[in-house]
Amino acid sequence: MPSVPLWAGDPVVVVGSGPVGQTAALLLARWGVPVLLLDARAQRETVGSRAICQQRDVLDVWSAIGAGAIAADGLTWTTARTFYGEQELSAWSFIDRGRSPLPPFVNISQAHTERVLDECIAAHPLIEQRWAHEVIGLAQDAAGVEVRGVTADGGLTLRASYVVLAAGGRAEALRTGLGVRFDGHSFDDLFLICDIRARLPELDGERRFYFDPPWNLDRQVLIHPCPDSVFRIDWQVPPDFDLDTEERNGALDERIRRIVGARDYDVVWRSVYRFSSRCVDRMRVGRVLLAGDCAHLVAPFGARGLNSGVPDAENAAWKLAFVLHGWAPQTLLDSYHDERHLAAAENLAVTGATMAFLVPADAAQWQARRELLAAAVHDPAARAQIDSGRFAEPFWYVDSPLTTPDPTRPFPGRPAKGDMPAVVPGVLLPDAPVQVTGRPETTRIRELLRDGLTLLTTEGVDRIEVAAAAARATAAPVQMFGLDRLDVDGVLAAAMDARPNEVWLIRPDGHVAAVLTDPNPVTVTAAVQRALGAGLSGL
Ligand SMILES: Cc1cc2nc3c(=O)[nH]c(=O)nc-3n(C[C@H](O)[C@H](O)[C@H](O)COP(=O)(O)OP(=O)(O)OC[C@H]3O[C@@H](n4cnc5c(N)ncnc54)[C@H](O)[C@@H]3O)c2cc1C
Repeated sequence: MPSVPLWAGDPVVVVGSGPVGQTAALLLARWGVPVLLLDARAQRETVGSRAICQQRDVLDVWSAIGAGAIAADGLTWTTARTFYGEQELSAWSFIDRGRSPLPPFVNISQAHTERVLDECIAAHPLIEQRWAHEVIGLAQDAAGVEVRGVTADGGLTLRASYVVLAAGGRAEALRTGLGVRFDGHSFDDLFLICDIRARLPELDGERRFYFDPPWNLDRQVLIHPCPDSVFRIDWQVPPDFDLDTEERNGALDERIRRIVGARDYDVVWRSVYRFSSRCVDRMRVGRVLLAGDCAHLVAPFGARGLNSGVPDAENAAWKLAFVLHGWAPQTLLDSYHDERHLAAAENLAVTGATMAFLVPADAAQWQARRELLAAAVHDPAARAQIDSGRFAEPFWYVDSPLTTPDPTRPFPGRPAKGDMPAVVPGVLLPDAPVQVTGRPETTRIRELLRDGLTLLTTEGVDRIEVAAAAARATAAPVQMFGLDRLDVDGVLAAAMDARPNEVWLIRPDGHVAAVLTDPNPVTVTAAVQRALGAGLSGL
C-alpha cells in the first residue's frame, strides 16, 4: 500500500478481540490509525472452533491485512451436497464471475483464524492489544469517547476518538448502556457439534447435509471436512438433549460410530448450541460503531456469522479512517448503519428461512417437511424448496446513500444460490488478475482498490478531465486506471459488462459506487462526493 498519513489524535478503541475486532484493528492500522484492542478475557483460548467456513471475499480482506495464511491453511471445498436419508437430492458449486485465485470457501477452525490474526496484530506497530481489560462503560462527548474498564489492577479510563464495539453477542450491558435494542428470538432445538479427527476419505473435499438420515431420524446432520483430517459434525438434537449423559452412557460414541464405523477417531472439540436470530436497531451510536456478533446473531447454517462480521469491520475501518484523515465528512459514518444494517437484515431473512425449514414450528410443519423431502427425491419442483442453507455472500449496497444508481443497470435482485449478482452500482467488483507497471504479475484488482477511491475508465473517456474533477472533489487518495491497460485478458471488463465512454467509481472496499455513462466534471464530482457521504444528514 502507498504510504498513508498517521492519525495523531486519540486512538480508535476496539472492544473485543474476537475475529471481528481483530480484523477491524488490522484494517484501521493499515489506514494509519493507531488502535487499542481491549478484551475482557485473560488470554486467547486456543481450543474451540465456532466459525469454520470462510468465504472468498472475507479471505480477501484477511489477505489485505497480512493474514493470507488463513486461506492457505484452510481446506478448500467447492461442492455442497444435500441428502434425504441416504439418497442424494442435489449438488451445487459456486460461480465466480471474475477469476479470483482465492477459493470460494475454505474450512478452518476459528481458533486457527484468530491465531493467524494475532500474529499479524503482534507484528503491527500501530496496534496495542491488552487482555484482561473488560470495558464496562462508554461515555461520549463531541470530541471523543471515554472508555471505562476494569483490569486486575482496578479501574481504568481511556480516551478514544471512536470505538468499534465488537464485544460479541453477550455484550448486553454495553448495548443497553448505549440505548440499543437487540431484538430477536432463540430456536428451540439444540445442535450438538463435534470436531473429530479421523480418516474418512469418502467425506473429503465437500460439504454434506443429511436430512433425516437413518442415524439421526427426523433431524439433520451436517458434515464439513477441515484441515488435518478433522471433520465438523453437527447434529440437530431435541430440546432435552444432554451431552454429559450421552458421554457417560456411551451414546455419543455410538452416534459418532454411525458415521465413522469401526475406524479410530478422537474428539477434538465438542459443544451444544442453541442458536439465536437477533439484530440491534442501530449499528452506530454517535462515535461508537457496533460490529459482528455484538450487532447481529444468526444461526450458522449458511456460515453468515463471521462472514458478515468481517465486512462490518471493513466498512467501519475505511469510513473511520477517511473521516479521521479529513478525507470525508463525519456524515460518511451514517452510512455504516445504512449499509451494514441492511446486510444484517438480509442475513437474518436468509438464515431465518433456513431455520424455519430445519426446525419446523409444530407437528403439522414437521409432517409437511417430511412429505416435501420424500417428494424431492423424484420431483425437481419439490427439490427446489429444500433449504439446507444459502452460503454467505457479500451484500449489495444498491440502496445505499453512497451509491449512484445507473438506470441502465438495475439490480436484478438476490441471485441464484452459489451465483454472484450482476455487477451494478452497489455490488462488490469481482476479483481478477491485472497488470500494473511496477506491481507483481500476480496483482489482483482487489489489491489495488484498497488504497483509496478508484476510477476505472473505458475507451473514449477524457481521462485528464475526469482526474481533475475527482481531485477537486476530494482530498482522499484517488487513483485512475484505463480498464483496457489493466485488464489485458478482458476478464474484468466482461464481468463488469463495461462499455465505451464509461467511468466506474469503486470504493476502497471494492463495492461499485457509480457507473457513469455520461462522464463529465459534474457527474464525476457528484459521484465522488456522494460515495464519501456528502449530503447525508448526520446523526
Ligand atoms: C457453532 C457455531 C458455528 C459457526 N460457524 C460459522 C461459520 O462456519 N462461518 C461463519 O462465518 N461464522 C460462523 N459462526 C459465527 C462466528 O463464530 C461468529 O460470528 C464470530 O465469532 C463473531 O466474532 P466476533 O468477533 O463478533 O465476536 P466473538 O468471537 O464473540 O468475540 C467477542 C470478543 O469480545 C470480548 N468481550 C466481550 N465483552 C467484552 C467487554 N465488555 N470488554 C472487552 N472485551 C469483551 C470477548 O471476550 C470476545 O473475545 C459460528 C458460530 C457458532 C456458534
